[in-house]
Amino acid sequence: MKKLLNNNDLNEALYNVSNLGFVPTMGSLHKGHISLIKKSKNQCSKTLVSIYVNPTQFNNKNDYKNYPRNSKKDLSILKKMKVNFVYLPKTQDIYGLKSKAKIKLNKKEKIMCAKFRKGHFEGVIDVMDRLTKIIKPKKIFMGEKDYQQLYFVKKNIEKKYQTEIIGCKTIRNKQKLALSSRNILLNKSQIIKAEKFTQKIIAFKKKIKTIKVTPQIIDKKKRELSKLFKIKVQYFELRNIINFKISNKIKNSKIFVAFFIDKVRLIDNF
Ligand code: AMP
Repeated sequence: MKKLLNNNDLNEALYNVSNLGFVPTMGSLHKGHISLIKKSKNQCSKTLVSIYVNPTQFNNKNDYKNYPRNSKKDLSILKKMKVNFVYLPKTQDIYGLKSKAKIKLNKKEKIMCAKFRKGHFEGVIDVMDRLTKIIKPKKIFMGEKDYQQLYFVKKNIEKKYQTEIIGCKTIRNKQKLALSSRNILLNKSQIIKAEKFTQKIIAFKKKIKTIKVTPQIIDKKKRELSKLFKIKVQYFELRNIINFKISNKIKNSKIFVAFFIDKVRLIDNF
């Protein structure tokens, strides 16, 4: 495994590499990241994993400061997986050169995380644009767990670069909780709470599979879950997976949710 500590290292290492698979991460790697890396290794001749906690996508300074970082363990995981390249850029490598492209979400897109985390997706799209330009991968592997992120990156990158964005399914623990780097910030009883909350949503989805779903039914469930678990549910919405319109049936739709376990904000979709 080659460690690429700056853009010079990267350009030298990637000279002559075609069919490159790229897995962008913010580190604190878990089995979700590992599944993306495995997919890249299957589909591409070489795989590059980046670890970079991108400051511009955090809408809250403390969240950025407290974001889990564990590079020693990350590097040992990547080495074990025989990843070809790990890119560990400094902010200068990403933001040193060109100025920020004008990124604007349209009105219809300012929903869910885009509504509650102002500037978040603009930061994500910008950093993914820069990373794609620097790395020039054939394919980028990203998780459906961050479904809105996957949508925005696919929309903005595929029209500009000859790079394909591949969505990969969400990896969960045995109790159905989606793996997330942020789970490290939770203690055991908080994890159990998040697991039980997740299981309730999965059961609810099964229950409404064959009925016409009104916004009232969804809203009632949101309030019920919030009360039952004594947590803040930021949004809980049934939306079409292609156009993100509010949906009245499970077919072609997903329940999208953001919730707080004390101060830790988690997202998921079902
Ligand atoms: P992050 O390090 O949280 O920025 O995530 C890096 C990539 O891993 C993103 O494409 C995420 O969507 C993906 N990812 C995070 N958690 C999971 C998971 N539980 N299952 C599948 N992919 C995931």
